[in-house]
Amino acid sequence: MTRKGILFVISGPSGVGKGTVREALLKVRDDIEVSVSATTRPPRPGEIDGVDYFFIDRETFMKRVKENQFLEWANVYSNYYGTPREFVLNHLKNGRDVLLEIDIQGALQVKQKMPEGVFIFLSPPSIEDLAKRLCQRGKDSQESIEERLAACTQEMEQMIYYDYVVVNDQVENAVTKVNAIITAERCRIKNLELG
Ligand code: 5GP
Repeated sequence: MTRKGILFVISGPSGVGKGTVREALLKVRDDIEVSVSATTRPPRPGEIDGVDYFFIDRETFMKRVKENQFLEWANVYSNYYGTPREFVLNHLKNGRDVLLEIDIQGALQVKQKMPEGVFIFLSPPSIEDLAKRLCQRGKDSQESIEERLAACTQEMEQMIYYDYVVVNDQVENAVTKVNAIITAERCRIKNLELG
């Protein structure tokens, strides 16, 4: 039995741990293509161009926007991020599943274009927990933490547009749930290529 490629989108508020869950998921699952986004943000220490992101300048980013090279793109806290369209569409066409880890604005754009995708909302257990995480990861200024927390309240309201919600209380629990969602979606009759 062959089946269509499925697009999985993991998304949620800034600081909820999307990247950590994705990394942990890939340790237990190597049968999914992971899209590498383009960004105008400078690389952090240890990040590799083409692996973590394609690091490009704003001019190049906007040129690619004009050329319609992104499936979605968004300005996330003053930097641009975009999902390369060809990569995603080619793998899906070849029956491979694709995983995106993107912000909520981007996920909603993808939902408009590809409603058949599987949209997973990663939620913090509480706003207090998110505040703690943002402080502990040490990447953001106090001002930026406050901005992200304020945005989170509105972002939580977008959950209704998703198919699943996974509370990221413990990374292992969240990964177990995302893994189960992937397994279940692969068994769905509607994803089979019949006849
Ligand atoms: P970071 O700069 O910390 O790696 O990521 C910042 C935010 O951008 C995270 O919420 C991440 O999920 C999101 N992000 C990463 N790649 C993309 C993308 O291609 N499109 C969109 N819309 N968001 C992205």
